[in-house]
Amino acid sequence: MNNKKVGLSDTMKAKTEPKTFIRNPINGTKFTLAVSSAKGGVGKSTFAANLALALKKINLNVGILDADIYGPSLPKLFSISVKPESDGQNLTPINKFGIQCMSIGFLTDEQTPMIWRGPMVISAIKTFTQKVKWNNLDIVIIDMPPGTGDTQLTFAQEIKVDGAIIISTPQELALQDVKRGIRMFEKLKTNIIGLVDNMSYFIGDDSKKYPIFGEGGVEKTAKEFKIEFLGEIPINIDVGKSNDDGIPIVEDNPDHEISKIYIKFAEKIKRYFFNNVQSY
Ligand code: ADP
Repeated sequence: MNNKKVGLSDTMKAKTEPKTFIRNPINGTKFTLAVSSAKGGVGKSTFAANLALALKKINLNVGILDADIYGPSLPKLFSISVKPESDGQNLTPINKFGIQCMSIGFLTDEQTPMIWRGPMVISAIKTFTQKVKWNNLDIVIIDMPPGTGDTQLTFAQEIKVDGAIIISTPQELALQDVKRGIRMFEKLKTNIIGLVDNMSYFIGDDSKKYPIFGEGGVEKTAKEFKIEFLGEIPINIDVGKSNDDGIPIVEDNPDHEISKIYIKFAEKIKRYFFNNVQSY
């Protein structure tokens, strides 16, 4: 038996040691990937949807959990208007384009999530992470709520995330928030797989490259924090159009230059998970 008395230094140590969270793994998947952005409107949901489709194209079983409670995009991006079935305990994901899909938008009308506050958000998050019957997935992608506030923190604390990707545009304003996002994941000891620069530039009819939001900022931020820079995605009108049509570009046109970029991302992510991370 250990009779050692607990002294003042032990108490102080206990107080100053970082809090560890009990994180629940999501059932039915080998790996969990968070797609995050510190700001809204930078293309996070577009990225999550197209990455899921690209991972599917390289033969992985993929699910998307659209947890962006303040602006769920999956119903529109994948043109899903049916509600998921429930057996009273669990929700069954909706299968679309070979991807298992669950969105907070399947369960609410467009206005509801906007008025949710603290405890409701937390209980929605718990339902969402623990009560969805994913079937034999390799990777579930979580389209996170944007930002670094309480909701995002609760989410990142509640679930066991195997890796996070942060999406940003190269604007200075967006980059400041990215730094906050990086610090949030670092504080939670969640591994950041890398940063992605979306809407990096536009190629005009004159074939010239126009870096509308500035150049190289995301890559520079990645270097500053010693995080991998995963690459750039240019602005392309077809991306927006296929989103609006409810068939994201990778599904709509797999040979499109943007789809090829997504396949490269998917190959990197596959390597990351299957070579580095111990599956649950
Ligand atoms: P977020 O999830 O960060 O709020 P969205 O994925 O909804 O952002 O994207 C915001 C808008 O930008 C959408 O209208 C989307 O179609 C468009 N968009 C995203 N990425 C691109 C891109 N690479 N080229 C053109 N439009 C894009």
